[in-house]
Amino acid sequence: MRTWLEINLSNFRWNIKSLQKKIGNKKLIGVVKGNAYGMGAVRLTKELKKCGVDFFVVATVEEGIELRKENIDDNILILGGVFNEELKMAEKYNFQIALTSLDQLEYINKSKLNIKCHLKLETGMGRVGFNNFEIDQLMKYVEKNKMKNIIGVYSHLSVADEAGKENENYTKEQIRKFNDFQGMETIKYRHLLNSGGILKYCGQDNGNYVRAGIIQYGICGEKYIDGFKPVVSLKSRILFLKILMEDSDISYGRTAHLKKGDMVATISAGYADGFKRSISNKGFVFIDGIKCPVTGRVCMDMFMVKIPNNLANRVKVGDEVILYGENILEVAKLCNTISYEIFTGISRRVKRIYVE
Ligand SMILES: *Cc1c(COP(=O)(O)O)cnc(C)c1O
Repeated sequence: MRTWLEINLSNFRWNIKSLQKKIGNKKLIGVVKGNAYGMGAVRLTKELKKCGVDFFVVATVEEGIELRKENIDDNILILGGVFNEELKMAEKYNFQIALTSLDQLEYINKSKLNIKCHLKLETGMGRVGFNNFEIDQLMKYVEKNKMKNIIGVYSHLSVADEAGKENENYTKEQIRKFNDFQGMETIKYRHLLNSGGILKYCGQDNGNYVRAGIIQYGICGEKYIDGFKPVVSLKSRILFLKILMEDSDISYGRTAHLKKGDMVATISAGYADGFKRSISNKGFVFIDGIKCPVTGRVCMDMFMVKIPNNLANRVKVGDEVILYGENILEVAKLCNTISYEIFTGISRRVKRIYVE
């Protein structure tokens, strides 16, 4: 293998069980959108099921179909928004959808589609959903048409994982707006908290479910979570080794210069695997526990590292290289992004390897 993503399933299940303890009498909705943040939605959904989770969130109809084709017949809620022309498919596969406009509810009613919906409240995310003043109109429409398909209500927190008094006040206001919603009788599921919310605000909301995403992998915001375990590492191998015969420039653009006698390893991964080009000349990888600096620009399928002296006598072609793992937050920071983007950016050609 050239490059692979190792997913530790026992640590994953440990995290899920820790989460279940944390949320007390609320229940868990497993957020497995974006191919379970790049880890493989089918496999991780099955692991979640082993832990007793029976409700899943995906972003798109296609993501839901992938799960149904693997005989996952639990509740699947599509939160990424559904266009009217996709509703027939949503009905066919028994998906629940986010309801974000009265127009769509009217369309569902007029087309006699049998689709269960979760009403999205706009409480401050500024993305999709009903504002307070639009709820009356919605209620009237539901009553008049005797609709019984709105089975859930939810909203989404925008700064729950960010520190600071102002963010806390903002989140509390979002929670208040959510709690204030006077439900309809048909509503069975109420969910507001994401990972950041679960960690910091659990119990302040009146939801009976939570939506857990990144926290399943033991991290949230800028932090590793106490008592949770790391799940993911991206690994590759040394493809080529050389000792420089003269002072040399390394990789595209000649941005790195090494000296005669330096040892350089070429690693069989690049930005087409999801190893970010912005790591060039900044990041590190680990070979046999030793930190090796990424030297020169990361290419599409390869990159170079300088081998420190204390490693030079024991490396060989084929050796394993850890591109990132427990240091994922430092890597994300270095790339000016968040762990979510690093995870979901790991491409298709990287094999997902599940270890028990
Ligand atoms: C992605 C997403 C989540 C999960 O967010 P995390 O921060 O990963 O826990 C929850 N709810 C909605 C609506 C989302 O889009």
